[in-house]
Amino acid sequence: MRPALLNPAFTPINRLKGCGPKLAALIEKLTGGRLLDLWWHRPSGLVDRRYRPTIAEAQPGRICTLEISVEKHFPPRTPRLPYRITVSDATGSLTLVFFNGREDYLLRALPPGETRVISGQIELFDGRAQMTHPDRIGTPAEIAAMAAVEPVYPLTAGLSGRVMSKLVDEAVSRAPVLPEWLDPAYQKRQGWGDWQGALHRLHKPEEAEDLEPFTPWRSRLAYDELLANQLALLLVRRRLKRLTGRPLVGDGRLRDKLDKALPWPLTNAQRQAIAEIAGDMASERRMLRLLQGDVGSGKTMVALYSMLVAVEAGAQAALMAPTEILARQHAETLAPYAEKLGVKLALLTGRDKGKARAALLEQLASGGIDIVIGTHALFQGDVAFHNLGLAVIDEQHRFGVGQRLGLTNKGEGVDMLVMTATPIPRTLSLTAYGDMDVSKLTEKPPGRKPVDTRTVAAERLPEVMEAVARKIETGERVYWVCPLVEESEVSDLAAAAERHAALREKLEARLGAGSIGLVHGQMPAADKDAAMEDFVAGRSKLLVATTVIEVGVDVPEATLIVIEHAERFGLAQLHQLRGRVGRGGKPGSCLLLYYGKLGETSRARLKIIRESDDGFRIAEEDLRLRGAGEVLGTRQSGLPDFRLADLAAHADLLATARDDAKLILERDPTLKTPRGEALRHLLYLFERDAAIQYLQSG
Ligand code: ADP
Ligand code: MG
Repeated sequence: MRPALLNPAFTPINRLKGCGPKLAALIEKLTGGRLLDLWWHRPSGLVDRRYRPTIAEAQPGRICTLEISVEKHFPPRTPRLPYRITVSDATGSLTLVFFNGREDYLLRALPPGETRVISGQIELFDGRAQMTHPDRIGTPAEIAAMAAVEPVYPLTAGLSGRVMSKLVDEAVSRAPVLPEWLDPAYQKRQGWGDWQGALHRLHKPEEAEDLEPFTPWRSRLAYDELLANQLALLLVRRRLKRLTGRPLVGDGRLRDKLDKALPWPLTNAQRQAIAEIAGDMASERRMLRLLQGDVGSGKTMVALYSMLVAVEAGAQAALMAPTEILARQHAETLAPYAEKLGVKLALLTGRDKGKARAALLEQLASGGIDIVIGTHALFQGDVAFHNLGLAVIDEQHRFGVGQRLGLTNKGEGVDMLVMTATPIPRTLSLTAYGDMDVSKLTEKPPGRKPVDTRTVAAERLPEVMEAVARKIETGERVYWVCPLVEESEVSDLAAAAERHAALREKLEARLGAGSIGLVHGQMPAADKDAAMEDFVAGRSKLLVATTVIEVGVDVPEATLIVIEHAERFGLAQLHQLRGRVGRGGKPGSCLLLYYGKLGETSRARLKIIRESDDGFRIAEEDLRLRGAGEVLGTRQSGLPDFRLADLAAHADLLATARDDAKLILERDPTLKTPRGEALRHLLYLFERDAAIQYLQSG
């Protein structure tokens, strides 16, 4: 149960004064719809209105707050001209200029003969001081509140800074005092205040430096978030480790046969990874291992060898893929080998229904199937294994911790191998996986040529379209990737839907009806799969996609990938995307379209991706150039989306949080001490409370 103290955090924002349904919907899209989403919505800038000169002193161009008396209104003679109001103080006079000014409003806000306070920038026009549209107008009583520093928040179309500030302010004022979860000695050493104070301070910047990641209040909040993350991961890991493993020792007979059946030798990196995995499986401890390997490094084969160890030892193995189509591809790749070895391999997806499904489940439960490949359908309630020994999860970051656990709960002490194609720098992998053991495939099978990668300015779009059409006319296939699907999200992004329409208009007559497909994130899963399958089967030849295109799907005929707004993608993501092409015999190429003039960082980043084919190096460089928050496009990658921590800036805090979490659970494994109770609040506050169940079941 969530502690009652935290109820305000999860209160919907439409309970705030002045937040109607329309506004609430806008904000929900931007930050999330609960008060805590506003708490974590950090100011990105500030406006300093503390400068209070007289009219004569006021420096043009600098924001100032002035106390003036209103002289005279000059409504325009024609509506196209501005409305003018003259104002003055003891030192001089000033003209206020309003375009489309409404007379009734202006007479109310600035009544002639009255004293008012205004804030804005003065400019000189024909040698006379004027202020166009003051930012603020108030009465003398309001001057103290007006002549202050205002935080500036990230906004979205239709949402004004004024309204956002008010709502955040009110949301923050409802933040409760929470029990302290920090170690008092550490807190003191860092000079950090309490949680509520830190939150208040975060939203009250006074100087530009106050927005930096290293302020005590921001550091404290970042630490809180990292501690919640590390504690949750550790709880899950402990839970897994406590369910002790069992030794699975294979005699090697199937692996030896496979060695002989493979058309090529394993790479050294594959051999090494397989040895590490077999070693873990043979031990009493339960395996929790992450297999990292760049696209094309041969992870699937490592998975097969690992599963054979389980089968040799008389157990079953399961391989879980994030989508139907990937599961099917894995099954198609591995089935011929399984057949040669006399190993029973089956595919189970959400599409299997009725009798066929019942028969399959029956065989799984009786041990008639040795290896099963599937989607998350694998851990549904009615799926039972005879003797599951190893779960391999090919996740491309799509499965949550809970789902990974779901599969391993299908057996006794099931060993777990997680495969990921994203080369994750150590800092990031800690936050996503905690302290998992890691095997890396640092070497690729020989023979594959790097994808020929070029950057192209968007002005050359017509040439790019022509190149695409020519490729397709020679029987090859092309991906066209756009960053976002909805024009409304960010107005100048090339939307996939719009690009799809434009490409159809230009090319469909030439390439044939139905030859241009579309797949994007907002489509229902079944439609997505269908669009992918059309492309795999060659019914469509040009696939316009947002980044949902499956990182692991093999379409050997695909030789060209066009990526629009390449400058907005994480490099690791670009690298994965281009790994989609050139997987058949023919070499692949990649065109990175960029818009506008590239800044220095963007240019450096695109240079790396052009010149390097090493996913690990690319990820490290990107981390160095951009900072962790952006590197992987966290939202798409499924890595935790930190709202207060910035891993590039707070890497040292992460290390401390990890040690802290370890110590906490050593001393207080069930979080029952007063600090433990406070830490439960922390887990709820950062929505890591799924981990709390592992406390009880321990
Ligand atoms: P990943 O899943 O790591 O992206 P795959 O397992 O799909 O990579 O392998 C990529 C391609 O390389 C596949 O066609 C696979 O058959 C092939 N392959 C795997 N291991 C080797 C090897 N040792 N030598 C040559 N080709 C290999
Ligand atoms: Mg793969």
